[in-house]
Amino acid sequence: MVSQELLDLLACPSCKGDLEYDATKDTLTCYNRHCPKCGMPVDESGTCQDSECGAQSNSFVGLCYRVEDDIPIMLIYEAEKIPLTS
Ligand SMILES: [Zn+2]
Ligand SMILES: [Zn+2]
Repeated sequence: MVSQELLDLLACPSCKGDLEYDATKDTLTCYNRHCPKCGMPVDESGTCQDSECGAQSNSFVGLCYRVEDDIPIMLIYEAEKIPLTS
C-alpha cells in the first residue's frame, strides 16, 4: 500500500504529471503521453523531448510504476510502458 500523503507528493519522473494509484495491482500509472522508445515526454507534434532520443511517433505510452515493499519505484527505465489508445 502507498499512503495518501505519499501519493500527494509523488509525480511522474518523466513528465511531472499526476499518477493514478491502483490499489489492487499496487501500481502507480501516469496516463500522459510519453515516447514509446525512451519514456520521456513528447511535445504537441509527437516529438520526443529527450535530445538524445528525438524520436517522432504517433503512438504513445503511459508509464506504470510498480511498488515494492511499500516503496514506489519511480524510475522511468523500470516503468512498464502501457500503450495509449488515443
Ligand atoms: Zn508521465
Ligand atoms: Zn524518446
